[in-house]
Amino acid sequence: MFLTVVTSSRSGAIGKGLTYESDANVTPGSAVRVPLRKRLIEGIVIEVMDKKLQTEFDLRSINSVLGDRPLLTEAQMKTVRWMSDYYCCSLRQSLQVWLPPPPWSRLLPAEVIMYRTPRASSTRVLPRGKKAQAVMEFLTDGEWKSRDQIMHETGASVAVLKRLDQQNLLMKKTDFAQSNKPINQLTNTILEKPTLTPAQQSAFESIKANPRPSLLFGITSSGKTEIYASLIEETVQKGKQAILLVPEIFLTENVIERFEKLLPPDRIAILHSRLKPGQRKEEWKRIHNGDVSLVIGSRSALFAPCQNLGLVILDEEHEWTYKNEQTPRYHARETAEALCRHAGAKLLLGSATPSLESWSRAKTGTYHLARLPDRYGTGTLPQVKIIDLVETEFNDNYPFSQQLISAIGERLARKEQCVLFLNRRGMASALLCLQCRRRVISPESQLPFTVHHDRNGKPYLEDHSTNTRAPVPALCPHCGSAKLHEVGAGTQRLESLMKKIFPRTRILRADTDTLETPEQMRSVLQKMKNGEADILLGTQTVVKGLDLPNVTLAAVLIADIGLSLPHFRAGERIWQLLTQLTGRSGRSKPGDVIIQTFRPDALEVLAAASHESEKYLEDELKMRIHAGYPPATSMIRLLLRGPDAATRAKRLHTELSGFNLRLGGTCKISSAPTLFGAGREWHVLLRGTDVRSLLQQITLRDVVVDVDPLDTV
Ligand code: ADP
Ligand code: ZN
Repeated sequence: MFLTVVTSSRSGAIGKGLTYESDANVTPGSAVRVPLRKRLIEGIVIEVMDKKLQTEFDLRSINSVLGDRPLLTEAQMKTVRWMSDYYCCSLRQSLQVWLPPPPWSRLLPAEVIMYRTPRASSTRVLPRGKKAQAVMEFLTDGEWKSRDQIMHETGASVAVLKRLDQQNLLMKKTDFAQSNKPINQLTNTILEKPTLTPAQQSAFESIKANPRPSLLFGITSSGKTEIYASLIEETVQKGKQAILLVPEIFLTENVIERFEKLLPPDRIAILHSRLKPGQRKEEWKRIHNGDVSLVIGSRSALFAPCQNLGLVILDEEHEWTYKNEQTPRYHARETAEALCRHAGAKLLLGSATPSLESWSRAKTGTYHLARLPDRYGTGTLPQVKIIDLVETEFNDNYPFSQQLISAIGERLARKEQCVLFLNRRGMASALLCLQCRRRVISPESQLPFTVHHDRNGKPYLEDHSTNTRAPVPALCPHCGSAKLHEVGAGTQRLESLMKKIFPRTRILRADTDTLETPEQMRSVLQKMKNGEADILLGTQTVVKGLDLPNVTLAAVLIADIGLSLPHFRAGERIWQLLTQLTGRSGRSKPGDVIIQTFRPDALEVLAAASHESEKYLEDELKMRIHAGYPPATSMIRLLLRGPDAATRAKRLHTELSGFNLRLGGTCKISSAPTLFGAGREWHVLLRGTDVRSLLQQITLRDVVVDVDPLDTV
């Protein structure tokens, strides 16, 4: 047979893999040793073919198959090939995410050399030498014994054993240290069975009964985690393995705690980015060996080497962290779908604010839809108040409105807690006109200017995409008003402002500046739980998944940051953030939410405030269909970098436009500098129902291909 092998050597080996011959029966996913030029190197078998496709030159044979079983299963290898195809990357690049770095033979059980005496030995020749005789004595029963044991018991050296083997006085074989334990033996390990409410039970039953991927559309605090636990229990009882993906492992303490109650710790592997290479390899081996029933981790945990995968769950499936922003630029949701299809495993996507992609699939029946429309127990959704930042007098307390200050004051008096949140992605603060509510735009790139301050504190405008500067105008370029306002204050400034307004309040600040390790996040949460702090002030990533019973006020200080980006997903994103925010308040007792915004009439703000999630999804989907944006169409983004990025992007744009016309002109093509690329990064965006045909027309040298991009600015 013929094998496609991706080798461990980057030099000389192409990413598509090399073809070898083999007499032995080899399956895809096996590690092999192959000759490359004058050396022997390791490789992974990607594909096995009965017939050679082309015969340009003589093929070399593989040297040996490593280990007693493949590193990756057939289903995983199919997914590797799918990724390379779908995300337009090489096999090597897609394989890379599935395996720790080489040498791959170290991932396999260690080889053990065994000896025994030949059973039919009629002639009882005794070898010369005391040690050799001791060996023969030790092995008289004809059973296989490991070389280490023989050497230990008899004091014989490796050389003595080799000599006996050469003299045919002993027989030798190679075994593997560990062999695959049947996972079935370890099924009775459920510690605490979940008990479901009737609504949860019926959602669980319908998910279990449906072989299609399921979307669990359950509002915040409806108990989605309990349904995950029930499905995981089911899977483990069947002797299969489950993978639970979470958006950010360090912010998932409570979820992990939940599963540590379900399974003993040694049956769980928690994969996170801070594992050292050695630890990562050990976890990999443990999972590969079948010692683990549940893998929990962020997106790359999908690539855990489960041999008998039964279930994959994506919690908060709408989160952007599921997209890898480096080659291979995969999305965990799409990839999980491919893996589950190949492995015959169940896929469950859970969210209170599903992505438009999943929503449209649920609507067309590609996904099965299960709903949890009510909060668990007596929990009710909080009252949401919208505050128009334009109409508000702040005195010196911007962005704290008087209503927000009194609401916080009430909680402090009642010894309840508040979560304050600032949707501040990146450092950008913009110049907003309070009259026409538009931002001051750079004429060069048509993108909002960013406000910076020079050493003397004097503000100026900068266009990050073109690296050009401009002075701050006295009047709004759109409407001529003088009411220009700098929006976007950092969490740090807010903290000092709050200390001024509430002098004796215990404030915790949680953002990426203050949280460097998981321990710090844990201690923040612990302090809130223990009532050692009154207010948690944080950025979106930190505040999103909190489950704190004593929080009765959640507020967003400026909801609009991000809204005005020329981005078709901006509305969806803000809606998700605001709806998730409403989920933080009143989880155990009645709560309130305050949304401060410059655009109180924006659809996404209104939908979040009225808890009309389904209506928002339906309206937004209609709009996407009407405007021809994903998920109604597909999108591919081509990234070009370097000093000549602009020229190349424009050339590519022209070239693609030509092909597009010839193919019927169904695609929309645009090119622009990227928002944070400082003019040295451009992208060409393709959008339409058949963007792939267009892509096939061009050579993709020095171009990064981003399929289904999330970031399009
Ligand atoms: P979601 O993930 O949908 O926002 P959670 O799974 O965090 O909601 O559940 C919210 C709260 O309700 C948690 O504190 C959880 O322990 C509790 N809860 C939900 N369902 C149950 C149940 N069936 N039994 C006990 N507690 C539950
Ligand atoms: Zn204006």
